Amino acid sequence: MRLAARYAGKTVLAVGAHADDVELAAGGTIARLRRGGARVVMVVVSLPGDYQQRMVEARQAAEILGCELRVLMGDAAKRIEDLKSYELVAMIDREVQELAPAAMLTHGPSEFHRDHVLVHEACVSSQRLCYFDFFTYHPNFCRPVPVPFHPRAYVDITDTIETKMRAIAAHQSQFRCRGLGIEIYRDIARLNGRMVGVPYAEGLDVGRMLLA
Ligand SMILES: [Zn+2]
Repeated sequence: MRLAARYAGKTVLAVGAHADDVELAAGGTIARLRRGGARVVMVVVSLPGDYQQRMVEARQAAEILGCELRVLMGDAAKRIEDLKSYELVAMIDREVQELAPAAMLTHGPSEFHRDHVLVHEACVSSQRLCYFDFFTYHPNFCRPVPVPFHPRAYVDITDTIETKMRAIAAHQSQFRCRGLGIEIYRDIARLNGRMVGVPYAEGLDVGRMLLA
């Protein structure tokens, strides 16, 4: 079954620790899901740094991808590591209970950023609430760092790579303002595409998936 058909008319939850995480790792997949008729809710746990600017950027990126945006932490005074693990789990649980997603995309366990690992762990635990497909996406970085990641599934994003790149570019405070380029994300998509014989792809690890 095509990806678009699997989730058409259903809700997919894309969870990231910070604004930009979902776009970097799964922006092309989200744009594809939206074009296929899925409701995609992008859940961002925190906006560290300039909260207002990052909110503006996150909204722009969500609009480009065509998804809804929810930011869970209300200001930049608290970081994810300041939360007790049960508080973070409760935040993710609330979204799962309200939205009853057909699938969740989130950070994997091998990320080097502690916030990302904490969000991964909270999302893993939310699987106890109900059944949904569970995928983890490519580890994220603004500057490349070698981190192990072995995708078991690939999404052809050839039709949405430019949308993904525009969504990433919306996060000017993280890239352009720091003098950092974003072409590495196109390179990663090209490399993943080579693995499965398409021009551009995003890799996902499969945590849980029902093959009916
Ligand atoms: Zn992040």
